[in-house]
Amino acid sequence: MQPFEYANPKTVREAVGLLGKSWEDANVLAGGTDLLSLLKDYIQTPKRVVSLKGIRDLGGITKTAAGLRIGAMVTLAELLSSAEVRDEYPSLAQAAHGVSSPQLRNIGTVGGDLCQRPRCWYFRLGYGLAAKGPNGESLARSGDNRYHAIFDNQGPACFVSASSFGPALVALGAKVKLVSAAGSRELPVEKFFLTPGDEAGRENALQPGEILAEILAPPAGGVRNATYEVRQKEALDWPLATASVALKMKGKAVESARIVLGHVAPAPHRAVAAEKALVGKTLDAALAEEAGKAAVEGATPLASNGYKIQLARVAVKRALLEAVKART
Ligand SMILES: Cc1cc2nc3c(=O)[nH]c(=O)nc-3n(C[C@H](O)[C@H](O)[C@H](O)COP(=O)(O)OP(=O)(O)OC[C@H]3O[C@@H](n4cnc5c(N)ncnc54)[C@H](O)[C@@H]3O)c2cc1C
Repeated sequence: MQPFEYANPKTVREAVGLLGKSWEDANVLAGGTDLLSLLKDYIQTPKRVVSLKGIRDLGGITKTAAGLRIGAMVTLAELLSSAEVRDEYPSLAQAAHGVSSPQLRNIGTVGGDLCQRPRCWYFRLGYGLAAKGPNGESLARSGDNRYHAIFDNQGPACFVSASSFGPALVALGAKVKLVSAAGSRELPVEKFFLTPGDEAGRENALQPGEILAEILAPPAGGVRNATYEVRQKEALDWPLATASVALKMKGKAVESARIVLGHVAPAPHRAVAAEKALVGKTLDAALAEEAGKAAVEGATPLASNGYKIQLARVAVKRALLEAVKART
């Protein structure tokens, strides 16, 4: 690990003042469950590490008229212990539960989950997000791509977004608040995640001097929501495909739907055709199946990940059925 200076600020203002203008100047430390591996493997080599652990304002889960505010430093275990989250935002509780080890849930934070770097093995071996070989070829496309993207993989990025909260928050229509020394800005989570178009790009909208301070989910107000993950048996590892859904109902019919696939594209992937397939109809197993099929239309699997199409299809079907079961 490259030596670095360690800073332990007590306020957000102090923290953003300690971040520099580039990723090499400083990195943010939350729980450290991802950052420490990145540092040990020389994937990130900042001069300074700025811990957020001492900043009280970044904690807490608060219900307001505007919805639910979740501080970036809330751990996954804290999130799971919140009755509001479990009752009204089951899709978030299910995503947190999917991070299968109690140790990770006790230390890992919601902000850290959203900002975790991709798990692509080429990226983790130091080949960068576009993962090009010596002749400029895409290592993911020409090599072992069994865990890579089946959507939005025609450009240089073939990795999948690792966050399980990403799809759930996009489905709920949540926002994130990003703070820098220059001020703060709010972004829909849907716009926070990005598919980089070149090696210099990143997988999210965070700029080097910014921290993700909080997540703002709109009032659940009867929106039925659920996350369903398909993973290798009871593996500790990330899911192979995920679906998060949020449904507004009118009587027994679906008034509007948001369906978001996870772990199948460089960013959470809205399945718009599947959303449209539900509107005005009563959701039963046959319609959920139809939506699952619509959700995977247009997939462009690589040589070894075609199996993810079926997993994503099933994830959508089961998430939809789970969501309507949730409050009936
Ligand atoms: C074996 C294993 C299985 C896992 N399975 C899953 C899974 O199924 N689903 C899933 O979603 N995740 C999974 N994870 C990832 C885990 O949830 C994340 O490692 C964790 O949430 C990251 O949180 P952290 O607080 O430890 O972040 P850190 O490790 O401290 O930070 C992670 C990254 O985010 C940046 N960062 C952190 N917080 C902020 C902030 N507030 N503002 C700006 N930048 C920030 C850091 O600089 C760093 O680059 C798994 C991890 C492991 C090791």
